[in-house]
Amino acid sequence: MRIDVVTLFPDFIRDSAGLGVVGRAQERALLTVHGWNPRDHATGNYRRVDDRPFGGGPGMVMLAEPLEACLAAVRAADPAPAPVLLMSPQGRRLTQAKVRDLAALPRLILLCGRYEGLDERFVARHVDEELSIGDYVLSGGELAAAVVIDAVGRLQDGALNHAESARQDSFEDGLLDCPHYTRSGACGTEGVPPVLLSGDHAAIARWRRKQSLGRTWQRRPDLLARMALTKADRALLAA
Ligand code: SAM
Repeated sequence: MRIDVVTLFPDFIRDSAGLGVVGRAQERALLTVHGWNPRDHATGNYRRVDDRPFGGGPGMVMLAEPLEACLAAVRAADPAPAPVLLMSPQGRRLTQAKVRDLAALPRLILLCGRYEGLDERFVARHVDEELSIGDYVLSGGELAAAVVIDAVGRLQDGALNHAESARQDSFEDGLLDCPHYTRSGACGTEGVPPVLLSGDHAAIARWRRKQSLGRTWQRRPDLLARMALTKADRALLAA
């Protein structure tokens, strides 16, 4: 998978995408992340990328022209089709289901806003979808893009050392994950639910499912309300 990011801070994107699982995915050639700076495509002595808005008011707006030139350079570098996703607090909220959809694509182009955002005429012409990482406002889209890259990158085949572990994560089957306990450490087996020490794999699986159901019921009843629970799940919840 290839992810191109249009940002005034390409170093942030390159650096964060070089760490941990995403860094490993790049080393394993499962993913490449490229940062593109609209300032490199701005004209004039000051290479301006922003201007004051029509109608007055506080704040600056990102100019359409450097963004357009930058996007053209991204497309020229690799003409394969790719959706253009704008990081925006006004966008559709990112979910694990959306992450799975994005992770299955060969390519993405992410746009990071700064200031009050992007000139709306550029958005209307070039943006396929706006994505939000939550109902709060960041000063720029880079952290949001890093969130998308991390969530999507770890789902590339071969990125995680245990591929099935992603399938057990929260939200994958509609529930929150169960609690986990390390084998080694100063606490030994203290506080560890005895079933996890039993070696009885069926009982462990039942316990984990019950914990997931219980946690979801306590912490995110909205998720549970959307699920079609099996008879076995209902019995575990009631037990
Ligand atoms: N004036 C905009 C508004 O109220 O909708 C907020 C602009 S914000 C200060 C600057 C940039 O940060 C946005 O263009 C967007 O790229 C990014 N951003 C801020 N909050 C975000 C969020 N919750 N999710 C995704 N991107 C966000």
